[in-house]
Amino acid sequence: MPRIAVLPGDGIGVEIVPQAIRVLDIVGRKYNLDFSYTEGLIGGAAVDATGTPLPDETIELCENSDAILLGAVGGPKWDNLPVAQRPEAAALLPLRKKLGLYANIRPSILYEPLVDASTLKREVILGTDIVTIRELTGGLYFGEKKREKKETGEEVAIDTLIYSTSEIERITRLAFEVARNRRKKVTSVDKANVLESSRLWREVTKQVHQDYPDVELEHMYVDNAAMQLVRRPTQFDVIVTENMFGDILTDQASMLTGSIGMLPSASIGGKVALYEPSHGSAPDIAGQDKANPLATILSAAMMLEYSFKELDGAREIQEAVNKVLAKGYRTPDIMEEGKILVGTREMGDLVCQELGDG
Ligand code: NAD
Repeated sequence: MPRIAVLPGDGIGVEIVPQAIRVLDIVGRKYNLDFSYTEGLIGGAAVDATGTPLPDETIELCENSDAILLGAVGGPKWDNLPVAQRPEAAALLPLRKKLGLYANIRPSILYEPLVDASTLKREVILGTDIVTIRELTGGLYFGEKKREKKETGEEVAIDTLIYSTSEIERITRLAFEVARNRRKKVTSVDKANVLESSRLWREVTKQVHQDYPDVELEHMYVDNAAMQLVRRPTQFDVIVTENMFGDILTDQASMLTGSIGMLPSASIGGKVALYEPSHGSAPDIAGQDKANPLATILSAAMMLEYSFKELDGAREIQEAVNKVLAKGYRTPDIMEEGKILVGTREMGDLVCQELGDG
């Protein structure tokens, strides 16, 4: 029986996670995956109950599970705590590090009924279906940082961009594996005309590619990739890139699809993977049944795909979401004139109904 650690966290986390669990449960039963769920404390809720945002029991629960579903952490109540107790800095980042989650996978799929929710022209974005794989534990964000005073007295700041062959190899290998289940094209984004780390990135990517002759590989400079993403996003299938380039490009790609309430994510690489919506705990709408649960529901679909290799089940969830949107149902964040306004719970009900429940 696959074990799922459920960490609702704070704010809207406690409203959206139960909707994703209902969906997961229906699809799980259909595909003979009888999930068991164990809830754990994280974030502000854990601070209130135990004094720490990431209790040892939560780490233990995660390490002993087959997958983790997380809502979101944080909120104004805990903003003024010392850094060591702040929900994001002291819970999420250490949890990702502890579990060895070196790859962040973020799909940017345009659900056709939401085509007019994007700021970009419909004819440009129609058909957008990109997976960006971002290296998450190396590069500029983790290299040595320091400040020095020059002889002139002027101050200089130094950030070190460092990548090893093994770090590049494992993330590019993942990209080729993911592409194999999709349209079989990998775009590796770098700045090899300027950066030595990018030249190594390109060399290693080419070597790894030899094991995946069925997948097409193209290299693209990051500045060109930024332009191509808004020029013709449908040319991309899987994008793989280093930490900082990925940070920037995934936010840019999110605008192809409309609302942050639609964006799922997966962090993988260790023994157990973590699935969560890309947004935060939205304290401004928490407790009001206004949150869009679809990013979390789509994160559950990613769990089926990546942790349980149940591609049909994942696709069924995505199709159910598409159908609910096509029928005109909208939470407030994606509401347009002439559509039907629903709350968090009702949006969950509608997806469950499309999946044949109730
Ligand atoms: P946020 O993503 O929580 O909210 C930004 C805006 O988007 C808000 O107006 C919010 O109402 C809206 N929004 C977000 N998710 C939505 C959803 N599902 N449906 C409808 N609207 C949605 O970002 P923020 O306001 O910068 O941060 C709020 C808190 O969340 C902070 O404490 C921050 O530290 C934390 N945070 C946590 C995570 C995480 O847990 N991974 C990520 C980002 C921020």
